[in-house]
Amino acid sequence: MRKFLVILLAVIISGMILAGIVDEIKKRGYLVVGTEATFPPFEFVDEKTKEIVGFDIDIAREIAKALGVKLKVEDIAFDGLIPSLLTKKIDLIAAAMTITPERAKVVSFSDPYFTAGQVIVVRKDSFMPKAFEELVGKKVAVQLGTTGDLEVSKVEGIEVVRFTRYTEAFLELQNGRVDAVVLDFAPAQAYVKMNPGLVISSGILSQEEYGIAVRKEDKDLLEVVNTVLRNLKKSPYDILVEKWFSK
Ligand code: GLN
Repeated sequence: MRKFLVILLAVIISGMILAGIVDEIKKRGYLVVGTEATFPPFEFVDEKTKEIVGFDIDIAREIAKALGVKLKVEDIAFDGLIPSLLTKKIDLIAAAMTITPERAKVVSFSDPYFTAGQVIVVRKDSFMPKAFEELVGKKVAVQLGTTGDLEVSKVEGIEVVRFTRYTEAFLELQNGRVDAVVLDFAPAQAYVKMNPGLVISSGILSQEEYGIAVRKEDKDLLEVVNTVLRNLKKSPYDILVEKWFSK
């Protein structure tokens, strides 16, 4: 009888430990991803369908598929993403988020999935700054809480204007109310393409890598995310080699 109780207790306790976020998501039937949708081509609103699409959204869809659930996308201000994750409003962050030591203190990052860096965008008729130091005395727009914000805030004498959406930052640049926008290279290219009056004036000024963020305790979800990323990186050739030569 006593042995039976001990075994029963062990089963209940291990069940409690094993019933992590992955089980919760599966039971719920959908995965909630948090993003900030003014960051093409990673996440942006499709003009025709009004849906949030992009590279990160496709990755998130693969994660949902691996879990066998639907995908729900929440558009949140960038500086609200980590707080939303920690208060369990979302299950993970897929928002071209740079892996930084500061952020890694509060969330767990997946393996890196994209290499990035900051650039300066200006109007074509303006000066052509090549380094952050050349922005001293100028008004520079960034998105609040991003690595772009961090980089320009380090340089004394730059007047940093912080926006929650890049669309607002670029409107200010077009209108001449700010002198430059600092942001990641790929979205900078996308905005310049949409606005022929703008140009990228610098090279890539920082070295960054994006990761998908989950809560520290959600190790089971992190494992799923990393497996999905690893599988996405495999070429059809790699898959064939694995099929015929492993074991
Ligand atoms: N990669 C930058 C960061 O992590 C910007 C990301 C974004 O604005 N979506 O801060």
